Amino acid sequence: MFCYQCEETARYEGGAGCNSTVGMCGKDEQTSDLQDLLIYAVKGVAQYAQKARELGVADNEAGRFMMRAMFTTLTNVNFVPARINALIKEAKETKDRLKDACEKAAGSAVELEGPASWRIPAETSELLAQAEMAAIRAGEAEVGEDIIGLRSLLLYGMKGICAYGFHALVLDKEADEVFAGIEDVLAYLASDPTDVNELTAKALEGGKVNYKIMELLDAGARDKFGIPEPTQVRMSPKAGKAILISGHDMVDLKAILEQTEGTGINVYTHGEMLPSHAYPELKKFEHLAGNYGGAWQDQQQDFADFPGPILMTSNCLIEPQASYRQRIFTTGPVGWPGLRHIEGHNFSMLVQAAKALPGFAQDAEEKTAMVGFGRESILGVADTVIDAVKGGAIKHFFLVGGCDGHLPGRSYYTDFVEQAPKDTVVLTLGCGKYRFNHLDLGDIGGVPRLLDVGQCNDSYSAIQVAIALADAFDCDINELPLTLNISWFEQKAAAVLLTLLALNVKGIRLGPTLPAFLTPAVVNTLVEAFDIKTITTPEADLADALGAAAE
Ligand code: SF4
Ligand code: SF4
Repeated sequence: MFCYQCEETARYEGGAGCNSTVGMCGKDEQTSDLQDLLIYAVKGVAQYAQKARELGVADNEAGRFMMRAMFTTLTNVNFVPARINALIKEAKETKDRLKDACEKAAGSAVELEGPASWRIPAETSELLAQAEMAAIRAGEAEVGEDIIGLRSLLLYGMKGICAYGFHALVLDKEADEVFAGIEDVLAYLASDPTDVNELTAKALEGGKVNYKIMELLDAGARDKFGIPEPTQVRMSPKAGKAILISGHDMVDLKAILEQTEGTGINVYTHGEMLPSHAYPELKKFEHLAGNYGGAWQDQQQDFADFPGPILMTSNCLIEPQASYRQRIFTTGPVGWPGLRHIEGHNFSMLVQAAKALPGFAQDAEEKTAMVGFGRESILGVADTVIDAVKGGAIKHFFLVGGCDGHLPGRSYYTDFVEQAPKDTVVLTLGCGKYRFNHLDLGDIGGVPRLLDVGQCNDSYSAIQVAIALADAFDCDINELPLTLNISWFEQKAAAVLLTLLALNVKGIRLGPTLPAFLTPAVVNTLVEAFDIKTITTPEADLADALGAAAE
């Protein structure tokens, strides 16, 4: 195995990458190699899907499959070789179907090269024997590490883009242009591209596809659950039976709330599910009792302490510990060997488990956090905000968001927000917020200084706020008193980064470390084109942001 797709990849002198029998996340060699082979198979599907679209027989079912398959390979999503194997088989069937459709439409044989021509073996041993061909660094000796780094940026971005696309599908949102865009970029990657400018341009095209997906996601969440509103969430448990739901999928949350109504069981959110408390169609359930625990990397402690069953709906799952292995369930793309997996939204097993488990014996001391500052609530007070900026009461906005993670150095984000001057406003999204959402930053003229825009899935909302402010001040986003300080961990963050670059947002600070797949030359390209910076110290980065604003 070789994998360096996430921030927690093994780092050693002279290099980085998980390349032993188990990755830092617990992904074993077989799963990792099968995931690489699945990606290779998906590239072949994309080639035929693109061809089919060209021939007038677009097949969006293939696009839905690609999103699901790619999502399964994200960090901390699926560790079950049999499920990856099943997806490889599905890739073969999908490709055969597309090839047939192409040939019918063309009236002759349609043979494509590269991954499209791969005869996918049925036997796992035969598959694994070909893993080298599908490895992320295959061909490095010929094309060099910079090209491999750029291809990796594009592929990992595409993984995140497909994950967001899958989230949109769950919310019944899709678009032809999105499927066509995904086919186009993956088919391009299948051609083993070597042109730096072309690779960079494709990465930005991928970012544009993601922007459309984020828009769909935003519309899907609002159609299903209403417009998020500022809401105070209880962050400590109440006495009673309890279910915990983690990940990002609010459709699963709603199904659990419906299936537990009237049972006396309290439902708690964990990690990235926290923002769901702001949606009218979810918060109307009185037994949506609060949020429990912190970000994903705290789950082994949080889940061990939780006295009820747990459902993991999407990334980010860590190896379940013996103390809660019997009461954690997975659904959607998620999987861990031996865990019970639920398909089809029938959560009766969780309800039964909740009734059998003790729940919380007593109320804990009440703590709260505010969520629900989607673009509607922020732009609802746009006049106040604009006046505050014009009058000097608000000097600067910081978007401090993205993923949290295990690695040391992330206390930087707590310190950064804590030290942000009192005449500045902090927008946040993603689970990075757990580093500072307990802080009381007060308000400026009634506008809270800490505004939680939502999940990382809600990046669209944050971008809309920036666009609206730029319109109001008749300037470019890059001229706003706004600094983006983004923490990354996995491939959804790579997708959002590509979107921000596609929107020509400059001067983003990225941390806590730069991706291992970006070589110094690729970093230089990004620095030159987009002024990307790494984090240093809160003091220096704040001074830089505010100094730059004052110029
Ligand atoms: S996902 Fe991250 S931690 Fe897991 S194997 Fe890949 S680089 Fe290593
Ligand atoms: S923001 Fe990133 S790290 Fe956090 S739960 Fe979502 S995907 Fe995982």
